Order: sequence, then C-alpha cells, then structure tokens
Amino acid sequence: MMPMNQPIGTAARSTSAGRRTRILSEKDALPELRVLLARARRLVFFGGAGVSTASGIPDFRSPQGLYRQGEKGTDPEMVLSRSFFYLHPEAFFDFYRAHMLYPNARPNAAHRWLYEMERRDVLRGIVTQNIDGLHRMAGNRRVYELHGSVHENACMDCGAHYPLQAILEARGIPRCTRCGGVIKPSVVLYGESPDKYVCIGACREISQADTLIVAGTSLSVEPAASFLDYFSGRALAVINQTATPADRRASLVIRGDVARVLGALSDTE
Ligand SMILES: [Zn+2]
Repeated sequence: MMPMNQPIGTAARSTSAGRRTRILSEKDALPELRVLLARARRLVFFGGAGVSTASGIPDFRSPQGLYRQGEKGTDPEMVLSRSFFYLHPEAFFDFYRAHMLYPNARPNAAHRWLYEMERRDVLRGIVTQNIDGLHRMAGNRRVYELHGSVHENACMDCGAHYPLQAILEARGIPRCTRCGGVIKPSVVLYGESPDKYVCIGACREISQADTLIVAGTSLSVEPAASFLDYFSGRALAVINQTATPADRRASLVIRGDVARVLGALSDTE
C-alpha cells in the first residue's frame, strides 16, 4: 500500500528500486501497451490538456501555449483567479470567452478509445484536469472532472443551471434570466478548491485501480498531481510529450501524442 499524501518523487524512490522504466517512442510502444492493457481488470485513466490538443484545444502550459505567449497585459493565472472574477467580472468573461471556450471541439481518437474501454467494462473511471467536457461528449459516464466543466454554469444568487450557450451568447457579464444574478461557470478558478466529492471519487477510483494510464499531463498542477500517490496497482503507463515526475515509477513511458497512441490501439484491434 502506497502511503497517502506522499510526494510523487518520494514514492518513486521507494517503488522503482530494481525496476527499469522503459521509455518508448510512439512507434515502438504499441505492443508493450497492448500487453499491459490485456492484463488490466480495473483500468483508470488520468488525463490532462494533451488529451484534448488533437481536438483543437491548445495546452496552456505547452511551450507554444498561452502562458508562454506573454500576451500583453494578461497573466492567465491572474485573470482566471477567484479574486479577479469578483473584482473584474466583465474582463474575466471577455478573457474566458476568448481563450477558454471551444464550442466546436469534438472528441478525438483518445476520447473514443476510452469510451470503448468503458463500454467493455475495463475502464472504471476517467480523472481529468480538462474542463472541456469532451469525455462526457464521447459517451463516458464515470468521469471525474477535477477542475469542473465549461458546460456547467449556475446563477450565483438563485442557483439556476445554464448550458455553455448562455455564456457564449451573453454580451459582457452573463445574467440569470430568472433573477438577474451573475452566472458563474463551474470551473475551478485559481484560489478555489476542487469539489470535495469529485476528489473523493477520483481518489477512490485511483486507489482501487490495478492499471493506471497517465496521459497528456506534465503533472505540474497541484493538487491534481498528488492524486497519483493513491495508486498502488500493478502497472502504470505514462503517455506524454515530455518527461513527468511519474516516469520513474512507471512500468511503461511513451513519449508521444495521446490521441495518436490510443487511436492506433483501436485501429489495430
Ligand atoms: Zn438566478
């Protein structure tokens, strides 16, 4: 049993002793990944921005991402914070609509493969840092959206729920048609805590998994990254373009694009 709340780096030292992590390219990875998945009975998928890039949603933290573009006068972490939302709601919504919403994005090969795995009852849950809702759009039901979803919005005064369309169509600050209150997206802003029940569910799934795929995330965002410490299963696979802190304790590390790797799995089945 893995000690809980232990930093990934510490866990890696205690579990990777004597085991050699294999780092494979996309091309070489398929047979290995297939062997790992064939033994999976309780698979859990933990994903980040890299899962959605093939759907046209940019990764904010990638080298080309918004966080590195040095866009004049806007620091995304500042604008997307709880305090900025309350102080400057109009500027918040301008930025949010311009950079966070991709209403035409559709599930890609990675989402479709995950749906198929849930349908076969191998995949027990998806834990995601993404707010785009694409896993649910693909048909998955056991989805834990750690940072919320752009598709869930609620009036701050009366609690009425609104779809994404209400945010998209509003000019300036979106207002409740019932009471005139401000409609707030149910995404976790900087300075806010993730939903307790989503976190509990995600931890439960990860702690009960025998196989975990970590994909499309550099695990640089806390507290999401520490969720991995709840995993004590047999096999951990990491699929990412760059190195992650989880690589050291992984049985398989694939450097590449998530949608291409998982899409290739479905193509050859
Ligand atoms: Zn209202």
